[in-house]
Amino acid sequence: MIIKKISVLTLLMAATLSVGAMTPDEKPLKKDDDGKKKVTKRDDTCKVAVNTAMLTINEEQEETEEVDSLLAFPSQDLYAIWDTSIIHPYSFASSFKQDSVVIRLTEPTDCGFVMPFRGPVTSEFGWRHRRPHYGTDINLETGDTVVAAFNGMVRIAKLNRSYGNVVIIRHANGLETVYAHLSKILVEPGQIIEAGQILGLGGNTGHSYGSHLHFEMRYLGQAMDTEDFVDYGTGMLKKNEFMITRSDVENKYDLRALHSRHKSDLGFAKTVTAKNGKKYKVYTVRKGDTLGKIAQRNHTTIKAICAKNGIKQNKVLKLGQKLKV
Ligand SMILES: [Zn+2]
Repeated sequence: MIIKKISVLTLLMAATLSVGAMTPDEKPLKKDDDGKKKVTKRDDTCKVAVNTAMLTINEEQEETEEVDSLLAFPSQDLYAIWDTSIIHPYSFASSFKQDSVVIRLTEPTDCGFVMPFRGPVTSEFGWRHRRPHYGTDINLETGDTVVAAFNGMVRIAKLNRSYGNVVIIRHANGLETVYAHLSKILVEPGQIIEAGQILGLGGNTGHSYGSHLHFEMRYLGQAMDTEDFVDYGTGMLKKNEFMITRSDVENKYDLRALHSRHKSDLGFAKTVTAKNGKKYKVYTVRKGDTLGKIAQRNHTTIKAICAKNGIKQNKVLKLGQKLKV
C-alpha cells in the first residue's frame, strides 16, 4: 500500500480549495442541443470540512513514498485502518460494540447530500437471484456522470471482479459509500472529494447486466438499505440524523444471516396451536424434500406422517405444501 507523494500534494491542494456545490435537483452534466455534454455552472460554494490533522504533514513525510500510515483519514476513531486495496476489510460483528449509534449524515459546514445520479431505481436492497444485493441500482446510460453523495476521502478506486470499476468514499461520520459498475474512474485513493463532485462515469463493468449505478452505504463494513436514508423520488435525504441499531442490522441488513435463518426456519416444523388447544407441528415442504427426509429431520416416520395427513407413501409432494408431523 503505497500512496505516492502526488497524493499527499493533491490532498493538500484539494483541502485548501473551495468548489461550488450543487442542489440535489441538479444533474452534474447536461446535454447540449448538439448532444455534447457540458458541466453545469454551480452558484453557491461550500468548503470541505478538513480535519486539521490532515494539514500537518511535514516536508520530511512528503519526501517518503510510504506515507499512508502517516496520513490522516476520515473517521480514524472508528476505523483503525485505511486500506486502499481491500474493498471491505472490516468486521461489523466485532467492531460494533454498542446497541445503537446516531449518525449525522451532513453538517452545516459541509456540502450536504447530492444524489450520485438522478435516475429510476431498478433494483432494491435485499435478497435477489439467490444472492444478497447490498445496494440500490439506479438506471443510467454508460458515460453519464456519477458524483459523490457526501464530502469525504476516496479509499478505493479500482477494478473489482463483481463491482467492476468501483469507487469507495470514506466520510467523516464513519459511513462509506460505494459506487460500482463504472465505465471510467476519475479519482484516486487519498483524494479529498466533495458532495456533488464527479468521481467517474456510469457503466456496465463487473457483475452487471446493463448500464446502471450500484450504490451502497456501509457502516463498519455493514451495508444498509440506502432507501432508509435517501428518498429517490425527491433526491433528498429522508432525515439528517440516522440511528443504526444492532437489531436493525440483525433483522433488516445482515442479508446472509437472515437468509440462512429463513432457510433453517423452513427446514424445521413450526408448532401450531389448534382451536381446541391441542398443539401439533406443521412442516412446509421445500425443494428437494421427500417424505423420508422430512420424517428424519422431524424425528418421526413416513408411516406416522402419512397417517396424520391422510396421504399415501407414494404421494407426490408440492413445494410449500403443509404437512403435520
Ligand atoms: Zn446492484
